[in-house]
This record gives sequence, structure tokens and C-alpha cells, in this order.
Amino acid sequence: MIRTENFLEDADAWLRAALARLRARYPDTASHTPECRQAWNRMLCEADLIALTWPREYGGRELPTATLIAFHELCARLHAPQPINSIAHAILAPTLLRFGTPAQKALFLPGIRDGSEIWCQGYSEPQTGSDLSSVRTRARAEPAGWLVDGRKIWTTQAHLAKWCFALVRTEPDSQAHRGLSFMLIDMRAHGVRVEPIRQMTGEADYNEVLFEAVAVPEGRILGEPGEGWRIAMAAAEYERGIYFMPRVVQLEDELRELEAALAQAPLAPDERAVHARRVQDLADACQVIRWRVDRVLRQVASGDTPGIDGAMLKLMWSETRQQVWEQRVELLGEAAILGPQAGAPYAAPASVLREFLWSRAETIVAGTSEIQRNIVGERLLGLPKDRKQHA
Ligand SMILES: Cc1cc2nc3c(=O)[nH]c(=O)nc-3n(C[C@H](O)[C@H](O)[C@H](O)COP(=O)(O)OP(=O)(O)OC[C@H]3O[C@@H](n4cnc5c(N)ncnc54)[C@H](O)[C@@H]3O)c2cc1C
Repeated sequence: MIRTENFLEDADAWLRAALARLRARYPDTASHTPECRQAWNRMLCEADLIALTWPREYGGRELPTATLIAFHELCARLHAPQPINSIAHAILAPTLLRFGTPAQKALFLPGIRDGSEIWCQGYSEPQTGSDLSSVRTRARAEPAGWLVDGRKIWTTQAHLAKWCFALVRTEPDSQAHRGLSFMLIDMRAHGVRVEPIRQMTGEADYNEVLFEAVAVPEGRILGEPGEGWRIAMAAAEYERGIYFMPRVVQLEDELRELEAALAQAPLAPDERAVHARRVQDLADACQVIRWRVDRVLRQVASGDTPGIDGAMLKLMWSETRQQVWEQRVELLGEAAILGPQAGAPYAAPASVLREFLWSRAETIVAGTSEIQRNIVGERLLGLPKDRKQHA
């Protein structure tokens, strides 16, 4: 086990050796596959390098948040994959630790920790994405618990998940954010149907999930029935904190790759000057994002929530990442689409097209750019509130 003294130094050495073993089994290009991420989750767990800040009684190490942040940065710099249960680690586990009963913590935390029980997040619905408060999935009270009916969409990893943390309406005829509950639903229960959605990258990481009279026993609501909105908002704050760090490190790597691609590109001097100016603008944006993430993480390390800084970070990061990939594709031209076999003047790695297409989702997932702008406008600039969002 990595000792607490010299933790980061020892963790660095362990990570390098473990990643070499992982990559021997899963080549780099496939490091985002569920199999690789599952194996990585297991390896971290066996080395006691997961759940670093959790209480000891749930398998954690009670390390300070600042150490967790530094560990995440280290993992990102070494291009470690995300453990398979990263959604649960980022969003659900801190929420469970804060709002869960002892029985809920004992039941769910071990499977989150070792990755044996994968979770998905069931918030969005066909008519309800940005305006989460209009959730229509309903749970009817039954003598032994609840019966859930409804439909969720864009549910990442639902096809792999054993559990779903979902926002459902438990008070009939309630409106907006009142009457919602944060429910923990067994995806193996009778009446749960998962239908994959194919993305433009060709992969199918997202799903539509149908609940048809799904029985959910007592004890599967986090907090009190009707308190779901407050809990979901607290959970959202965790999503913008520590687990954002790897994305910023990844963006910095992608910027460096873009700068290298520009250096190699066979361009006329005037064309080069145009591209160079755009790349410099992106480098400046990445620097601002770095300052902002450092500030957010300082807040988190001192026990605060990211708040408005989290919204600004998400907005700047997602838009900049899109522009970095647009610029990369523009530099490569047709080679970006045709890949390494194109016979173009210089080869485009096969991953370029995937990342370019993937980056289109970043300004939608976890709150669209328009919604982040609304938040900044209202909370920072004092503009009038968007009535639909605050109904
Ligand atoms: C890659 C990916 C993974 C995802 N994973 C999950 C998941 O695991 N679980 C889950 O629950 N959801 C998930 N989502 C769904 C995601 O949370 C929603 O797509 C997002 O919240 C937007 O909702 P929507 O798609 O319904 O768009 P809508 O809310 O219908 O918005 C459509 C357009 O209108 C704009 N708009 C909406 N309201 C306003 C407003 N008030 N002011 C200004 N503009 C507005 C939006 O910005 C957008 O451009 C995922 C999405 C993506 C892309």
C-alpha cells in the first residue's frame, strides 16, 4: 500500500508502473473502453488509491482534499483513463456521504469504490434537459416502497450500470422543483429497459432508459421524499469541482499537440500567420482556464463549493476545447476525415476525427453553454432572472 508519508511521490512511481501494465493489455487508442476503465478501477482499488478522502469505515483513507486534487492532476498528466465508476465517484459518493443514512452508505459505497457496481445518472428526459425542474418521471407510493414510471434519455453508461441515481416526481400534481426526490434505482429490476443511442463517433455510450412500473423498495431515497432538488443541486456542485481537473490537463495536452501540428503543417507564410494568431488566442484562453481551475480547486480544498466559478470554468473549458479541435481539423484539412491512410502531406492520427466530433458534445453535457451564460448573467452580472429556470 502507498504510505501516507511521501504519498504523491510514491503514488507517482506506482502510477507509472501500473499504467505500463495496463497499456500492455489495452493499447493507448482503446484506453477509453469500458474494459480498460474497469480494469483501471480495480487496480486503483487494490492499491488503495481510490476513495482517498472517504472515511476509513467505508474503505477510504481520510486524506485531505488537497491531496486528492494533486493525485487527480498526477493521473491526468500521466494520461490515466477515468476509472469506470467516475460518475459515481465524482457526483454520487460525496452526495451519499453527506445525505445518506448509515444503511445506504454501507450498501452502496463498497460497490462504488471497487467498480463492481457501476452507476448512471438519470436526470434528463425527452422533454426535460436544461430545465430539470420539469421532470415527469413519477414514483407512486406503495405499501412496500414506490412504483416508478417514466423515461430518461442521454443516460451515460446505462447499458453497463447496475444502479441509477435519478430525479423522480414523488408528489403527484407537484410543480417545478417541489415534489422531486433523489432516488436510487436498481437497473436490474423488472420493468427497466435500456435502449442504446448511437453517436456520430460510431460509439454508443448513451442510452434511453424506460421505467415501466419499476418497484423500488423503501430506503432508496436519499434525504427525505420531496427533497430531491436540494440534493441534486448539491450533487451538481461536486461535479464542477475536483473531477474537472483531468479535463483541464487534457485540454493543455491538446493545445500542445495543436502547436506541434501547426509547426509541421506545410503552410504558406501568410496562411501560417493566420493560424498562428488563432492558436495563440487559444493558448491565452487555456492559461485563463488554468488560473480559474486553480482558483476553483483552492475553494474546494478549503471546504467551499465552486458556485459561479464552476459555471464559468465549464463554459470556458468546453468552448475552448471545441475551438482547439476545430483549429486542428482546419489545419489538417481532408486528412482529418480520411485519417492516416489519406496520402495527405502529413498523417492525421485516427483519434483526431473522434475527438473533434466528441468535442461537439462538451457544450451540451452537464449544462449547455446558454445555461452557464444565464447563471453568470444572473448571479454575477445581476441581470434579470430567466423565469423558466426559476419557476
Ligand atoms: C455527452 C452527453 C452525455 C450526457 N450524459 C447524461 C447523463 O448521464 N445523464 C443525464 O441525465 N443527462 C445526460 N446528458 C444530457 C444533458 O444533461 C442534456 O443534454 C443537457 O442538459 C441539455 O438538455 P437538452 O438536451 O434536453 O436540451 P434543451 O434543454 O432542450 O436545450 C435545447 C437548446 O435550448 C437552449 N436552452 C434551453 N433552455 C434555455 C434557457 N433557459 N435559456 C437559453 N437557452 C436555453 C439550450 O442551451 C440548447 O441549446 C448528456 C448529454 C451529453 C451531450
